[in-house]
Parts: sequence; C-alpha cells; structure tokens
Amino acid sequence: MQKLEGKTVIVTGGGGGIGGATCRRLAKAGARVAVFDMNPEAAQRVAAEIAAAGGTAAAFKCDITNRAEVDAAVAATEAELGPIAVLVNNAGWDVFKPFVKTEPAEWDKLIAINLTGALHMHHAVLPGMAERKYGRIVNVASDAARGGSSGEAVYSACKGGLVALSKTLAREHARHGITVNVVCPGPTDTALLAGVAEGARDPAKLIEAFKSAIPLGRLGQPDDLAGAIAFFASDDASFITGQVISVSGG
Ligand code: NAD
Repeated sequence: MQKLEGKTVIVTGGGGGIGGATCRRLAKAGARVAVFDMNPEAAQRVAAEIAAAGGTAAAFKCDITNRAEVDAAVAATEAELGPIAVLVNNAGWDVFKPFVKTEPAEWDKLIAINLTGALHMHHAVLPGMAERKYGRIVNVASDAARGGSSGEAVYSACKGGLVALSKTLAREHARHGITVNVVCPGPTDTALLAGVAEGARDPAKLIEAFKSAIPLGRLGQPDDLAGAIAFFASDDASFITGQVISVSGG
C-alpha cells in the first residue's frame, strides 16, 4: 500500500546512511523525494538509485548551516517537485571526545549543523505548510539527547535542543495541521558512527561496547530508522505530534 503517493518530501543529509535509507523508503511509498546534502555527489547517487528503481527524486546541494542555500534549495524543490508536504531533518555531525578536551570551534560547528541547520529548515518550510494547512516534520535526534552519552556532551546538548524545539513547534503548529515528531537512533551502522569510533582510543572496542549495551544485541541499520521515520511522515500518524521515539534496540 502506497502511503505517500504524490507527496513532496525533503530529506536533509539524504546522501548519508540513515538519510539515504529514508529517501529510498519514502520513494517506495510513492513520495517525490528531494535529496538534500552538502555533498552533491552523495545526494545525486541516492536520487539516481531511486530513479533507477522507478521512483521520483531530485538531488539538491544544500549545506543546512547556510540560510541562503536552504532557501534556494527549498524554492528549487517546490519548482521541480511541488509544494513540500514532509520535511525530514536528518543531517547531522558528531565528534567523540571528553568535554574538557573539546574546543569552542567544535561546539560552534556542532551547534551550526545539529541545531541551527534544523532551525533554518523549519523556518524555510513552515510558512508554506501552514498556508496549505498540512505538514509532517520528522526530526532525527539521538538517544544521547535522552540519557546522555559520555564523549558526546555538545552533540547531546544540540540533540536535546532539537527535541525541545520539536515539542514546542508541535504545539505552535498543531492548529495548522502540521505534526512534528522525533526519532532517536541509538548506535547505527553508518559513516557517522565509524567517525565517532575513530575518536576513541580503540575504535573496535568502542563499537563492541555500544553493541553489547543494546538489548536486541546488534547495531541499528539505516533501514530500522527509515521505517519509523516513514511512519511519522505518513497519515497513519496524523493524530500523533510532539512525540519522541527511540529506535535503538531497547
Ligand atoms: P551519515 O554520516 O551517514 O550521514 C549524514 C549526512 O549528513 C551525510 O551525507 C552528510 O554529508 C550530511 N551532512 C552533514 N552536515 C551537513 C550539512 N551541514 N548540510 C547538509 N548535509 C550535511 O550519518 P547518519 O548516521 O546517517 O546520521 C543521520 C542522523 O542520525 C544524524 O542527525 C545523526 O546525528 C543521527 N544519529 C546517528 C547515529 C548513529 O549511530 N549513526 C546515532 C544517533 C543519531
């Protein structure tokens, strides 16, 4: 059953692990997918895969920390694929080191990508969604926002901010027919996790420690996240807003 037939969706960080799986999943459900990524080749690769499988997708180079690029990419999406019904704020970045060893320049970069970038995206799409009285926003935070995570203090703070932002925007925009929900991945097998592990003294040991702390006994796979994101993006979730769900193996 196709649940997003003809709906235009934007997925930020759509060229990455979770973002790519989400783009493919939403396209399979019938959506017209705008793949946003600061890495244009990665975005193009995902859009081409979707087109080859018979779906509709277009790639847009968009660094979400740059408001002018966000506005231009959103306008280009609407011109090419139509009015935006769904936004998945998924682009993110992390560093793994004790807080006292982090530098203010790293905090600035983490905040710019994980929090300010998401603000730009909401700000760009909400007026149009409100006017059309329809919108589904799914924000990808992290379990680090819920329980904290040693070595990820500033990242956790950004993702906690994203959760609070989502709950507030859910209240503010409910009367416009817009829902805002949050999916929190646990450790998931992507380039981001590999990069985090590189920050540890023994990367393989860190991955093993993450894995052994997961009750279901394995790392998340990007498709595990895509399913939950697709649910919140669909009308099956039309009476759910301001909610936060962990997709983390328990
Ligand atoms: P990934 O590295 O595979 O993908 C991230 C994508 O975001 C990349 O394609 C990258 O180019 C893009 N990106 C980064 N900065 C950007 C910017 N400024 N503008 C536009 N695009 C940008 O990582 P992933 O694991 O798929 O991460 C997706 C989301 O899941 C992130 O928000 C991340 O914080 C969150 N998350 C991941 C894990 C995990 O273990 N992998 C755990 C918790 C939360």
